[in-house]
Amino acid sequence: MSEIIKLSRSTVEKYLSCPRCCVLDKKYKIKPPSLPFTLNIAVDNLCKNEFDYYRKIQEPHPLFIEYGIDAVPFQHEDLERWRSNFQGIRYRSIEYNYDFGGAVDDIWQKKNGDLIIIDVKATSRNNFDWSETFHKYEYAKAYKRQLEMYQWLFKQNGFQVAKEAYLLYFNGKKNEELFNYQLNFDVHLIKLDCSTSWVEKKIIDTANLLRSDNFPKPSLNCEYCNYLKKRWQLSIN
Ligand code: SF4
Repeated sequence: MSEIIKLSRSTVEKYLSCPRCCVLDKKYKIKPPSLPFTLNIAVDNLCKNEFDYYRKIQEPHPLFIEYGIDAVPFQHEDLERWRSNFQGIRYRSIEYNYDFGGAVDDIWQKKNGDLIIIDVKATSRNNFDWSETFHKYEYAKAYKRQLEMYQWLFKQNGFQVAKEAYLLYFNGKKNEELFNYQLNFDVHLIKLDCSTSWVEKKIIDTANLLRSDNFPKPSLNCEYCNYLKKRWQLSIN
């Protein structure tokens, strides 16, 4: 039998958006350039601290009350591991020989025991319109897939999971009259009606691609590959 293959949720997302990039990353350790999102990390961290306060006292966060969500932040001895980028929550399939995992931002628990998966995002836009963003941009659909992969992981680990998941969006206000060294945010809690039915098939497809000798073609509209192609063309001429 082939060796067990370790996959993260971002590897499967890469497989979905560009299988070639997935192969370059996992097999050849070549990644497209990216910048560290330090402001986003700061927002994630502040948010985590705030939810941890309400987790300790097992009270709903004021945001839950505002949005009519009957839940409290979930307490569990493995929470820190599930939130750690180096570990996350994992599931290992003996049948298909993969070990799949991802790190969640937060989990809330409803009165009936169902877990609600949360992901925190930060942005700064003049007009925040999630429906339009979801309709127009692939990255927004990837955010939903991200939550669905986490939901699937929790189900595989034996938890009862709510159908809905949430994106907690912080939109930085960039048109304030005075800065005062303070960044203020609008908060949007976006409810997504999720489905996990597709998840395992795509994990298996990703594992199969990485086990094969297949080297897929680049995606036609990728800005990185198009940039490289244009550079090569210029050098050849
Ligand atoms: S097309 Fe884009 S995403 Fe695909 S391999 Fe090239 S750089 Fe990566």
